[in-house]
Amino acid sequence: MGRYDGRIVVVTGAARGIGFGTATRFAEEGASVAIIDLDESAAAEAAAKLPLVEGAKALGIGCDVSNGESAEAAITRTVAELGGIHVLVNNAGITRDNLLFKMTEDDWDLVMNVHLKGAFLMTKAAQKHFVEQKYGKILNLSSVSALGNRGQANYSAAKMGVQGFTRTLGIELGPFGINANAIAPGFIATEMTDATAARLKMDVEEFRRLNAEANPVRRVGFPEDIAAAAAFLCSDEASYITGQTLYVDGGAKLG
Ligand code: NAP
Repeated sequence: MGRYDGRIVVVTGAARGIGFGTATRFAEEGASVAIIDLDESAAAEAAAKLPLVEGAKALGIGCDVSNGESAEAAITRTVAELGGIHVLVNNAGITRDNLLFKMTEDDWDLVMNVHLKGAFLMTKAAQKHFVEQKYGKILNLSSVSALGNRGQANYSAAKMGVQGFTRTLGIELGPFGINANAIAPGFIATEMTDATAARLKMDVEEFRRLNAEANPVRRVGFPEDIAAAAAFLCSDEASYITGQTLYVDGGAKLG
């Protein structure tokens, strides 16, 4: 029996990267999964690849999490087609890095809107179902960059905002049987960090090697590392944990 048998899990930004890794882990553990991403065909393709257990279903939904109507429609469709919702993982994200003096207002707004407003809108749409059934798990993706990172004024502000948002969800929703936590990943090998390498005009493998070397555990992270922590934090074993941010970073920010 899997920990997520009979559960319905929504993961945003899950057509690839950490989101897809996390959706895969939930599917392996028995869940039906809705993969949400900007491009519906990419979401559907990813959903078709999930290792579902017998009786579980997968769904790919095109949705812009930073748009209220789109977020609401994605949750409504999940409930209609998969039969409910038990877990929401707010993972969708983008970067628009630049030093403060070169950062445009658009790049500030875009990053805030996807990470912070997106998590707010998706959570707001899901919470009414959670409150009604007196059960729900919310997981938000923060980042070690929340602690500050050169060239990421917009992203680090959004990711620290996610931590404050998570604490408040813990306070407001705890009485309704809902847990809300966050994971703050360190360097995870995905297209997002590959794009950072490209921006720095570095070879991807060299960029990963340097990041591994600088890390106490001497390796970079992979989507599976985040997925394992997500599967624990959204499980009933973790029902006494709420409002917390777990750094999954190989010790990167220890000293
Ligand atoms: P990724 O590979 O770039 O994947 C992000 C996904 O989110 C993409 O499929 C993207 O779709 C989708 N997305 C972007 N904007 C969206 C929107 N408005 N609505 C719906 N989906 C949207 O990123 P990742 O590395 O897996 O990161 C996942 C999360 O972890 C992000 O929140 C990121 O900030 C966080 N994180 C990552 C790292 C890391 O080292 N990788 C470290 C710390 C935190 P498109 O391809 O169509 O743009």
